Amino acid sequence: MIRVVTFDEFDPKMVKDLCKVLYTAFAVGSEHSGTLPPPAGFNEPYDAGKLLDAAPAVRAFQDDKILYLTTRKLASRKLFSGEAPTFGVARYNSQRALLSTSSVKNVNENVKVVARYALQELGHTFGVHHCLDPRCAMYPHWTPSFPLGEAAFCVFCRDQIDQKVRVAKS
Ligand SMILES: [Zn+2]
Ligand SMILES: [Zn+2]
Repeated sequence: MIRVVTFDEFDPKMVKDLCKVLYTAFAVGSEHSGTLPPPAGFNEPYDAGKLLDAAPAVRAFQDDKILYLTTRKLASRKLFSGEAPTFGVARYNSQRALLSTSSVKNVNENVKVVARYALQELGHTFGVHHCLDPRCAMYPHWTPSFPLGEAAFCVFCRDQIDQKVRVAKS
């Protein structure tokens, strides 16, 4: 089960549509598990990693994934090639991912774009690394072409996720 937890007010229809895309992409159930206040003591732009670690716990099974969704800005990250905007964060092979919709214009009409970012962060929680196929949702998310792609995985990444899901179910 993928549990979407919202920190801010989102259109319920948008969240519902997002859950549908997640269900299709991962072949595991997905639902909105509620809106919670974001952790206290943070200022915008948020440190994505710290926010993820401080995110309130929600009732979940061990194999569940939790996607925290916020409208607030995340601080950019320093790479050796310069600064990269941060849209989300996730730890490899873990339970939690965080996604900010601050870079997506008109979120309600661009659920596919939000979903593509969500797929990437959740993909990381399944242990999947970045992918060289520009059509795949695991292609590096800070590339200019990323938001233009489909909310779907390439065959290779999908296969990695399927294997993890199968292990979790057995
Ligand atoms: Zn990534
Ligand atoms: Zn891929």
